[in-house]
Amino acid sequence: MTQLIRYAIEPVDPNGHLFHVDLTVAEPDPEGQRFSLPTWIPGSYMIREFSRNIIQMDAVCDGIPVPLTKLDKNHWQASPCKGALTISYDVYAWDLSVRTAHLDQTHGFFNGSSVFLEVQGNENQPLVIDIKRPFGERYDNWRVITALPELEAPRYGFGTYRASNYDELIDSPVELGTFALGQFEVYGTLHEIAVTGHVPNLDMVRLEKDLKTICETETAFFEPESRRSPVDRYVFLVMAVGNGYGGLEHRASTALLCSRKSLPSTATPEQDGKLSEDYVQFLGLCSHEYFHTWNVKRIKPTAFIPYRLDAETDTRMLWLFEGFTSYFDDLFLLRSGLIDVGTYLRLIAKTINGVMRGKGHLRQSISDAGFDAWIKYYRQDENSPNALVSYYTKGSLVALLLDLTLRKATGNARSLDDVMRLLWQRFGRPFDEGLPVGMTDAEAKRVLEEISGTDLRDFFSRYIYGTTVLPLREALADFGVTMKNTADSGKPGLDIRTRQQGNDCVVTHVYENGSAHYAGISAGDVLLAIDGLRVSADGKSIARQLSRYALGDEVDIHVFRRDELMKLTAILVSEEAPEYTLTLTENAADAMKTARQSWLGS
Ligand SMILES: [Zn+2]
Repeated sequence: MTQLIRYAIEPVDPNGHLFHVDLTVAEPDPEGQRFSLPTWIPGSYMIREFSRNIIQMDAVCDGIPVPLTKLDKNHWQASPCKGALTISYDVYAWDLSVRTAHLDQTHGFFNGSSVFLEVQGNENQPLVIDIKRPFGERYDNWRVITALPELEAPRYGFGTYRASNYDELIDSPVELGTFALGQFEVYGTLHEIAVTGHVPNLDMVRLEKDLKTICETETAFFEPESRRSPVDRYVFLVMAVGNGYGGLEHRASTALLCSRKSLPSTATPEQDGKLSEDYVQFLGLCSHEYFHTWNVKRIKPTAFIPYRLDAETDTRMLWLFEGFTSYFDDLFLLRSGLIDVGTYLRLIAKTINGVMRGKGHLRQSISDAGFDAWIKYYRQDENSPNALVSYYTKGSLVALLLDLTLRKATGNARSLDDVMRLLWQRFGRPFDEGLPVGMTDAEAKRVLEEISGTDLRDFFSRYIYGTTVLPLREALADFGVTMKNTADSGKPGLDIRTRQQGNDCVVTHVYENGSAHYAGISAGDVLLAIDGLRVSADGKSIARQLSRYALGDEVDIHVFRRDELMKLTAILVSEEAPEYTLTLTENAADAMKTARQSWLGS
């Protein structure tokens, strides 16, 4: 079978971190075939300019070199030619993240958006991808895992794979190496976990068991009757490192980066009912990315159909796609029986404390936060806590408030569960049934109002388009949960964040309206002494030192700004770090207990 478009990728120099790619187009555009490379990868909303890693590109037509013109930063055009056109190039792959590509002698990983040029005008053609084994004995035991279906390759083998179009190609990351492999079924659908990286005594059995529970809970949530999976096969690609955290959702897989300590060990097995905090965080990440299989990969904002890969795209609806997903990720750990109510309430309290820590949540709405994700959330700096809000964390609290509001308005008959299911029925679409239909803000609001039976205009303008503080305390009280700020308001503090750099304590963030802000301490300053006494490099001495002073006291602060010694004066005010706790209300009324039961289960 002659394929019109064929990619061959070879890890040609693992030591130099180079993939080599040959892209052959059997019938190029007679006017001169154009090619492009995405500037960003869907799910990670920042222009990353993947073409910066392309090294040297040549074009050959029927064995004869043809001129290739670079039109702009990520577009190329071959001169008109007759016969099959092959474009060859190397890609430098040395970014250990879920967003680009990485290659060395231990493993290879790539997203299609980093390595495969798009053949303009042929976006919807089926594609063949030949994945080649690196040369040398060292690589004899390497395997391949990806959600792309095999064309001529054994399962986990090198050989040819296929993609139904360019969108599927760049939505299916590939891992090469000697990963540990786990498998389980979710209502008859094969799910796999590939763990890359050195993880002593990895407890794969535990991982299989817990991920299966989460995936079953989520599948049954969206498809309570049929339990039909939206995928034919699903792959968790996990890269374990010393320190790291991140995930990226795809249509039938997810790429995850985690710290090795967050994976279970057979030597110190995880105990049912009291899983370690690190492992709970990892399961929460898996739960989050798996939920995206429905929410954002198949229920999509209209602006993503199709993705515009050349430039920033309207991402105003991330409050729903990331916020709701962040609300349900931990909730499904509770519903799957992996954590208890106490742990769940602690996770919500942690989110509340994070959102309320700076003034950003009073400055930027979650709708605007999504819209500006490209230049703000993904490009955070020392002033971010004062200027912006996370559509993940605040979005999840808005989802919580919506859930409680809906439950209250309907006497616990309806909830955000019903909203998600209706969104799925109305806007979700499996890939094999054509393009998703797409959803707008207004349509999401209509579904929410349909389920709640109330007008949500006010809710939207206050909490989604506005920055009104969420009335969570009141909402939670109705559900038999007490929210209390236990922070000591009489305690003086500097209201800064620091990091240790060698023997220095370096200020990284200065919260607005705190003692340090008023004194003129700035991010980047090396904090030397408070009232003539040395500050410890790890910053832990600050609270201890300040505990000898009262609110209103004046203290000298010595800092180095760059190489200049500065003496500043701080008038101490109370540190504004909230410490909310959520507990089950003692002696809650029966109605509250019933409401809580319907929300959190037993
Ligand atoms: Zn997400």
